[in-house]
Amino acid sequence: MVEVGLCMIQGARHAHIRALDNAAKHLNSPLVIHELRTREDVVKTPCDAYVLPGGESTVMRLTGGAEDKGGSGLLPALFEQLRHTGAAVLGTCAGAILLCDPQDGGEPLIPARIGRNAYGRQVDSFQSLIESPLLSRSFPGVFIRAPRFESISTGVEVAASNGGEPVGVISGRRLALTFHPELTEDFGFHAWLLSIAMDSPPGPSPVKSEA
Ligand code: GLN
Repeated sequence: MVEVGLCMIQGARHAHIRALDNAAKHLNSPLVIHELRTREDVVKTPCDAYVLPGGESTVMRLTGGAEDKGGSGLLPALFEQLRHTGAAVLGTCAGAILLCDPQDGGEPLIPARIGRNAYGRQVDSFQSLIESPLLSRSFPGVFIRAPRFESISTGVEVAASNGGEPVGVISGRRLALTFHPELTEDFGFHAWLLSIAMDSPPGPSPVKSEA
């Protein structure tokens, strides 16, 4: 069984649930999805893998940020969980921004520089058939006010590219995509997440509650 924590801050959360369900059926693997809303949810429910959907990263940082700044504490707890356990994670669009630039005082979850809204405004959102070395095939890319990778550190690999430009990067068990796989019928990246989570379980040291 795979347990996936889904961050319920913003974005197409129910589309991610559908994609995860489809991927689990395809892999013939029982799946439990935990909806995470607060720091406590993260601490109480260590998962094999996490999904950080898109949205507006500025808003997500405020509502999901540190509790002493009025946030739910979800994001800092998630980042610590990822650093301590090595659990797998998929971040899409704003989720990718947060993984590359967590702004919680700790190391980036994926060492790559990423620029917000780098293609322009909402009207400049687009779709493109992209190439994925990770899936070894093409993939329908849906880009909505998408960010762009500005540079990628050594050890980070390209998981998807659009016309030769990286639009998805992978660092170990962490995957950041600047597009929205959950808004397509193709659940390949969600299946990747579940299979990598099943491959080797995360380490034994979940973040402790500070209660
Ligand atoms: N423009 C958003 C941001 O900068 C990302 C958009 C998205 O997640 N679709 O956070």
